[in-house]
Amino acid sequence: MAAVVYLVVPCYNEEEVLPEASKRLIAKLEGLMEKELASKESRILFVDDGSKDKTWELIAGLHESTPYVCGLKLSRNRGHQYALLAGLTAARELCDCAISLDADLQDDIEVFDEFLKHYQDGCDIVYGVRKSRETDTRFKRGSAQLFYKFLNLMGVEVLYNHADYRLMSRRALEALSEYKEVNLFLRGIVPLIGYKSAVVYYERHERLAGKSKYPLSKMLSLAADGILSFSIKPIRIISSLGFLIAFCSIIALLYALISKLCGAAVSGWTAIVVSIWLLGGIQLLCLGVIGEYIGRIYSEVKQRPKYFIEQFLKK
Ligand code: UDP
Ligand code: MG
Repeated sequence: MAAVVYLVVPCYNEEEVLPEASKRLIAKLEGLMEKELASKESRILFVDDGSKDKTWELIAGLHESTPYVCGLKLSRNRGHQYALLAGLTAARELCDCAISLDADLQDDIEVFDEFLKHYQDGCDIVYGVRKSRETDTRFKRGSAQLFYKFLNLMGVEVLYNHADYRLMSRRALEALSEYKEVNLFLRGIVPLIGYKSAVVYYERHERLAGKSKYPLSKMLSLAADGILSFSIKPIRIISSLGFLIAFCSIIALLYALISKLCGAAVSGWTAIVVSIWLLGGIQLLCLGVIGEYIGRIYSEVKQRPKYFIEQFLKK
């Protein structure tokens, strides 16, 4: 039997993209219905992440004038990860499986068929993985590569070149809801669920229109969440560094003592200045990393609500 599929699409200031994106998504969904991969109850759920432009008006208009379009409006901008979580949480009760994707349709929607075939074969999670990054700017490509390498080095289990383009079954969505953390990094959480999964490769296109809504600051904060919320390796590295420096200082001390006893002159101004700066720098860095963790503990302990829903236009 065809599954009830929800396409969950977070949107932040996407007025330029929405008309075309919705047209293509509706056509795709109808195609899936014809092939009996999706049932008639399937929907496209646009999540407005507190946009400042006409995004919500457009979504509300689409909800009125077209079939299959639903809208969820958050009370303010909470960021891509929360917007996605809000959409997936709302879809959980209504669907058999949900596919998350970006509004700019950079991720090739033609692979929905493959996603759904894997789902029919009993997979609970299907990851969309990019074949290449040719359409990205050089900077984005380089920084993404560095990011994935660093995550792996820190022992965080993420799929290389997989962003948030994936299918999750209702069971997987229920599992996801058990993770209560505030500092959200879905790419790190989903592999922890562990249900049967599959990978689908696709080509990434150019953005339909408009500019990226992920400026450097948002990318850095996502990277920090990815590393610091999933790994205590940075703290371990700091303590190992501490041990190493302590060990070296004992040797240096012995050396200084012996050379003093032997009557050799202390000619160490440069050495002293260099070591003060070096140690000072390392100490500040370490304090910074520890501070980051404490900051994260602080926000987790508060357990503030992640988002508020202002309006839900169902169909
Ligand atoms: N997005 C969001 N809230 C934000 C920033 C982005 O919901 O605060 C959405 C955005 O509308 C898009 C998706 O997240 O659907 C990915 O953003 P974008 O395509 O700009 O990122 P990029 O592809 O450049 O990494
Ligand atoms: Mg994009």
